[in-house]
Amino acid sequence: MLKKIILSFVLILSVVYYGCTPPKNYISDSSRRKISSVRTVKVLILKTGQRTVFSSAKNISVYDGGNSEIFNGKSFSVSAADVKSKIRISSADEIIRINDTPYRGNVVIQKENDSMLVINHVNIEKYLCSVVPSEMAKSWPIEALKAQAIAARTYAYNHIASAKNTVYDLDATTSFQVYKGCSVEGPVSNEAVFLTAGVIMVSGGKPIAAFFHSTCGGETISNQFVWQGEKISYLNDEKCSYCSDSPYFTWTEEVNLNEFRSALLKKNPSAGSLKGITFKKHNGRIIECIIKHTGGVTSLTGNDLRLFLGAKKIKSLYFTTSKINNVIRISGHGYGHGVGMCQYGARGMAMKGLDHVEILRKYYRGIEFLRI
Ligand SMILES: [Zn+2]
Repeated sequence: MLKKIILSFVLILSVVYYGCTPPKNYISDSSRRKISSVRTVKVLILKTGQRTVFSSAKNISVYDGGNSEIFNGKSFSVSAADVKSKIRISSADEIIRINDTPYRGNVVIQKENDSMLVINHVNIEKYLCSVVPSEMAKSWPIEALKAQAIAARTYAYNHIASAKNTVYDLDATTSFQVYKGCSVEGPVSNEAVFLTAGVIMVSGGKPIAAFFHSTCGGETISNQFVWQGEKISYLNDEKCSYCSDSPYFTWTEEVNLNEFRSALLKKNPSAGSLKGITFKKHNGRIIECIIKHTGGVTSLTGNDLRLFLGAKKIKSLYFTTSKINNVIRISGHGYGHGVGMCQYGARGMAMKGLDHVEILRKYYRGIEFLRI
């Protein structure tokens, strides 16, 4: 009886905590794919013309487009030229090595021009068991890992709901979120996924675009100052006093004027020699770089400037500059685009005893939680 009362209490709490009924506008919106029944995510692992080896500790079965088994054994290799129709690969232990990296779930191979797409079809919770430690150190506090699990799940469902390319939903790189297969899983990050299973963040009844980045450096930034498009209501300029432990909280780099000129030429191949550089900022972050040159004036968005100079060198656009002869000295704060959750901030909040709901509500203002 006591067990029953406790269970009821836990159930009531979880309903109050996350909510559990999809809002009406979420159910009735026919323009987006329904996600409430989707439990498998399709992740592009490779796009290659090279021969690729698929193997498993147990036998793998390979099926052609007509669902006839064409191979059963330990190791199967194929190159793009061999792919005539869709190929599906499964393994009895549900772990398949693609070249040397093990992945859970099944693999589907499809031809695209002269390449083949190698796509991992994997249960979304198992996918997250890899994404969470690929995106955040698995030694971090569990409340930060739970926040990361919900952010990554929400990000995935946002793409599943809006994916135009139904062959795959996301790729495995930083273009979406990093997925390194099951060898990176750990007990605490697995627990963070398990304890938040099915929970996503919604706004207006839809999974939010849950952007995150390493270190904001003191303040996050609203999306429209980084990428083109309308301001998204839950992505705001948000002061953050929790990420000062990050190794990227402050950094310095030097950029030679020749590097600026190379960046300029990527945007404007006919640009002349440099005459002057000015920056337009929002809350200390570069949103535009205006370069005067002998051929006129060329403007780069802050994001383009960072990509052209190297996103690892110019860790963020939150910086000040000073010029010494031909060198521009850059004093920066933070690492990443600065939009949405600051991961080192999440760590700092968790270390101060705040939980994952408080963390997520700080970086994504006004969102609701939903268990699907
Ligand atoms: Zn921060």
